Amino acid sequence: MRYISTRGAMAPLPFSETVLLGLAPDGGLLLPERYPQISREQLDAWRGLGYAELAFEIIRLFADDIPDADLKGIVQRAYRPELFGSAAITPLKRLHDGIAILELSNGPTLAFKDMAMQFLGQLFEYVLARRGETLNILGATSGDTGSAAEYAMRGKAGINVFMLSPDGKMSAFQRAQMYSLQDGNIHNIAIQGMFDDCQDIVKAVQNDHAFKASHRIGTVNSINWARIVAQVVYYFKGYFQATAGNDEKASFCVPSGNFGNVCAGHVARRMGLPIDRLIVATNENDVLDEFFKSGRYAPRGSANTWVTSSPSMDISKASNFERFVFDLLGSDGAAVAKLWAEVDAGRGFQLDAEQMRRVSDEFGFVSGKSAHADRLVTIRQLDSEDGVVVDTHTADGIKVARELRRTGENIVCLETALPAKFADAIREALDREPPRPAGFEGLEALPQRVTVLPAEAGLVKAYIEQSLE
Ligand SMILES: *Cc1c(COP(=O)(O)O)cnc(C)c1O
Repeated sequence: MRYISTRGAMAPLPFSETVLLGLAPDGGLLLPERYPQISREQLDAWRGLGYAELAFEIIRLFADDIPDADLKGIVQRAYRPELFGSAAITPLKRLHDGIAILELSNGPTLAFKDMAMQFLGQLFEYVLARRGETLNILGATSGDTGSAAEYAMRGKAGINVFMLSPDGKMSAFQRAQMYSLQDGNIHNIAIQGMFDDCQDIVKAVQNDHAFKASHRIGTVNSINWARIVAQVVYYFKGYFQATAGNDEKASFCVPSGNFGNVCAGHVARRMGLPIDRLIVATNENDVLDEFFKSGRYAPRGSANTWVTSSPSMDISKASNFERFVFDLLGSDGAAVAKLWAEVDAGRGFQLDAEQMRRVSDEFGFVSGKSAHADRLVTIRQLDSEDGVVVDTHTADGIKVARELRRTGENIVCLETALPAKFADAIREALDREPPRPAGFEGLEALPQRVTVLPAEAGLVKAYIEQSLE
């Protein structure tokens, strides 16, 4: 399996090379030349597998330059029941109305990002050791990526993490989770701006090829292909849990920001998993909802990105979306490069009616949107009708799933975080504290380590240089 760029101007690379690369040299995103096709027989054989076994079977199709025995070790270390709180790793529960919730947030940082990041931590350690190299990870987070990356990489030899987060924009719990880490290889940088500013700085540093090479800069952001692959696994697992046999279909509803999570659903669907629809749920930052409704993709700047009560979706430029458009345009890298030149110039682009027909008919995408009042109503409904407390992001998904559900449609809503991470909204909705899993008591009272910087790539580079001296 070889990997190419969405902008079409990169010589194909094997999997292990893509793991450390992040963004392609031509500014595009990496993806496989083609998606492996899963037969009905393979699905039947996989249905009964445990999580780590299933992860091995799926990931080995993409990571074919890692020996099977090594990959088995990597996934077994990443998906241990102790880390995720149950042997199932991703338990599924049904609400009274038949909608299912796939629990993806029982990992070390209580958000679905752990599902990919625990794998990535093990993978990085393995690949770096094999090559005798070190890596400095530069990332941007609106909350959950940062903590998931830091908990996956803390204390790992040969790896430093430099994590940019928007100053003052995350919940107290999220800040405490990240900034309380005292490991010497973890560096928290709070940027005076929004998440998109942080992401722009990461891209700017990535595009400074000399700096990137001399400082061995890598990424763990959702543009990293290995994260998408790891996420593909729980679409298969969730499908098996939600259906009785492989002749059934299921739809997935996914709270979205950077389009990373639902991009993995798209890949699973292209591989032949019987997914009916992929329902994209946004919050008030509805760039993606606008696209799926109108064909117009118009990313917005920080000034037009709202701070909401589902902050991990306060994103107005969906990095991974480029991968889907590449598939939609029949792997035409030049056409993608042209569209993204428009995006980079601040103009965005408009797809035509025929292309949009394929987006829904052929690729199964639909979308909906949820606002603060919707989240509160949904959280209250689930609490009173099902005795289930969900976080604000998961609530956005459930609201949209209920709105768009067709008669008899088997919808799996992806739980993207636990409510403990977003206590303010739970207090507002339920007038009580969210349940807090064991081991997280007193987190906010721990001493914190963070450096605040203005939103300038040059200052971030200087900080990295200084820290590595
Ligand atoms: C990251 C995140 C999202 C958005 O996921 P994308 O892959 O960026 O679309 C939604 N909810 C939570 C809680 C998250 O951490």
